[in-house]
Amino acid sequence: MIKNLILTLSPEQGSNISGLAGIVARTLNMPPLRVKHIEILKKSIDARKPNIKVILSVNAFIDEEPKVFEPFHSRYQKTLSSRKVVIIGSGPAGLFAALKCIELGAKPIVLERGKNVSDRKQDIAIINRPDTAGLVNIHSNYSFGEGGAGTFSDGKLYTRSTKRGNVNDILKILVEHGANPEIIYDSHPHIGSDKLPGIITNIRNTIINAGGEFHFNTFISDFIISNGKIKSAISTEGKEFEGDAFILATGHSATDIYELLISKNISLESKPFAMGVRAEHPQELIDSIQYKSRKRSPYLPTASYKLVTQVEGRGVFSFCMCPGGIIVPAASKPGEVIVNGMSNSKRNSPYANSGIVVTINPEELISYQQYGALAGLKFQQDLEIKCFDAAGKEQKAPAQRMTDFCIARQSATLGKTSFNPGVTSVALHEILPDFITLSLQKAFIDFGKKMKGYYTSEAMLLAPESRTSSPVRIPRHPEKLCHFQIENLYPSGEGAGYAGGIVSSAIDGENSAIAAVGSLG
Ligand SMILES: Cc1cc2nc3c(=O)[nH]c(=O)nc-3n(C[C@H](O)[C@H](O)[C@H](O)COP(=O)(O)OP(=O)(O)OC[C@H]3O[C@@H](n4cnc5c(N)ncnc54)[C@H](O)[C@@H]3O)c2cc1C
Repeated sequence: MIKNLILTLSPEQGSNISGLAGIVARTLNMPPLRVKHIEILKKSIDARKPNIKVILSVNAFIDEEPKVFEPFHSRYQKTLSSRKVVIIGSGPAGLFAALKCIELGAKPIVLERGKNVSDRKQDIAIINRPDTAGLVNIHSNYSFGEGGAGTFSDGKLYTRSTKRGNVNDILKILVEHGANPEIIYDSHPHIGSDKLPGIITNIRNTIINAGGEFHFNTFISDFIISNGKIKSAISTEGKEFEGDAFILATGHSATDIYELLISKNISLESKPFAMGVRAEHPQELIDSIQYKSRKRSPYLPTASYKLVTQVEGRGVFSFCMCPGGIIVPAASKPGEVIVNGMSNSKRNSPYANSGIVVTINPEELISYQQYGALAGLKFQQDLEIKCFDAAGKEQKAPAQRMTDFCIARQSATLGKTSFNPGVTSVALHEILPDFITLSLQKAFIDFGKKMKGYYTSEAMLLAPESRTSSPVRIPRHPEKLCHFQIENLYPSGEGAGYAGGIVSSAIDGENSAIAAVGSLG
């Protein structure tokens, strides 16, 4: 018999998995030996009152053992046919597309402009040192290289996708490749930047062992198109990769791909996006606000927050909140500055950071309309360059105290930040476009009312948080998922404008592979 139970526990009880069988036996008034196994379905924290509770939804196996399911790995032993799917980009969309191709018996050929994950680590280290931060490698940085923007990301795996089946499959595949099994049931699953590279390497090995191919340092800069179909993808070295179908999963930082598509008369569209700043507080402050106590219990995770407001009809919201994390230099070429956030699996830095961004409709960017589908992209690029220039052209980030920003005064002194390349005091309220400044100023005051203590001079703002979502969409057929003009081109993931974040990009990659392989018969 399987009994579904909701357990309301203290944080200490909730962190002791081995003690759960005893709690279930007491709850059901039966001898502990009858409880054979506990499967945790969901774990969440109720911190609305000072007496914080951990809520577990569990399946208790009474007098019976759970079934052993076929591991996902066994899906990847198929003999691959001669059907070749070329996948451009090895981010979450590209990698999960490749795994799905293998499952369906087609051979994936993954082309990646950057380096493998271990060589990529050296370039990430260079851009994190104040003396070398300006040496941004245009093919190997926080956005480009094996695993894409997902590799040195925070590794939060929340998604707004309502298709739980698909989400659970992605989480299970990640666990089979080395992620902590807790991600399956945690209401806020998180992997961490220190664990992601190992998982990405394991996924690559699965793909290669099953007969797939990986080509690193392979920057695709052209396509050969004939009779409305792509025949091959061409790298800058002139290497030609032929395939039956092409999944384009190059992410939203690969602006060169958008320009290539335009040069080939392949249509693009602009789409709404969001930009703003990254706000950083001491983690202890966020813990004390969220847990309503001066010191966080050792059994509770570092606290996070989610904030949203409307300012004169415009949405302003927190994005990619990283408790116990750091702010990272996420530029993908020299001459621009971009900030983003990440944390390690233990989330133990003394800082809490989050993007605070303002929604932008491309039609309102009047002076950018000449760029057509690339209006939002050009607007984004201009701000990244402006911030670079304002902060002294050294990959330092322009920064201001939150309270100074809201009263439009340049900060005389700056507080400590986690941003390794360093910060320069800049009047962000003058650098950011007026509508972004005004929306953020009002939003911070509002957030201070919603979370008492959030609006503080201790909070630092760093700019720009510009790569939250793609300002461009590559239009595709709603069911066939191929481009309207090119029948074997499958735009996929975040750069195509159909996903945002690791899990939704991975799901989109899988769907593109199903459509692409399906079209080959
Ligand atoms: C610092 C940071 C933290 C983040 N934290 C989170 C988080 O906690 N949770 C979350 O859900 N999301 C997070 N994200 C966002 C997440 O990483 C992206 O949404 C996701 O990686 C998008 O997946 P994708 O496969 O569509 O594209 P990408 O991951 O961007 O991958 C695109 C790949 O294509 C390659 N490529 C580009 N152009 C070419 C070309 N011409 N030829 C060959 N290869 C090419 C790139 O090198 C790259 O590997 C974070 C991002 C960053 C930068």
